[in-house]
Amino acid sequence: MAEGMLLALSGPSGAGKGTLGAMLLRDEPTFRFSVSATTRRPREYESHGKHYYFMDDAGFDRALAQGLFLEHATVHGQRYGTLREHVMEQVTNGFDVLLDVDPQGARSVMAAEPSCVSVFILPPSYEELAKRLRTRNTDCPREIQRRLLNARGEIAQMRLYNYIIINDVIETAYAKLRAIITAERQRSIRYCPDIPEKQA
Ligand code: 5GP
Repeated sequence: MAEGMLLALSGPSGAGKGTLGAMLLRDEPTFRFSVSATTRRPREYESHGKHYYFMDDAGFDRALAQGLFLEHATVHGQRYGTLREHVMEQVTNGFDVLLDVDPQGARSVMAAEPSCVSVFILPPSYEELAKRLRTRNTDCPREIQRRLLNARGEIAQMRLYNYIIINDVIETAYAKLRAIITAERQRSIRYCPDIPEKQA
């Protein structure tokens, strides 16, 4: 069985990678979401095991010491880590895995798994990014400020990625993401079909 694809979706908080990822998971039955571990507190709508595995610092330290993370990073003052076993099991079973990770995490995954497809999602402007963070209403003003400051450093790293998409109109950005996946599926590293002698 052919291995699945690792897709690392990255970009500043508020760029829309969560929305794009959710659309992808809705439409592409071969995709599975990599549920990360984090020390961040859950938002109102988030549940343990679906959005994240929420844990305290000691739990995160234990997971780290046990070598459970494929990559881990401190982002906006909180710790996040990708669970290696979960990702690798899905990929080995032929599923594609969507990773929602920050640029540090994306870089680590690219180094560990060079066939990983990396996509950076950009907002159309800094002004629009600020507007989105405020209107989505998931973080307090201080946290929004911190995320906006960090966005500049994250955007400075976009050239590390295989692909860059500006998310101005969500449908257009999504069409581009689907096109990338379609093309990546045809790459000879993933696709090596046998053809029959005769036409059926
Ligand atoms: P949020 O707190 O808004 O859910 O996520 C904050 C940032 O952490 C986002 O940029 C998100 O992509 C990143 N992130 C989420 N999970 C992981 C992970 O497992 N590893 C890394 N490196 N970053 C993550």
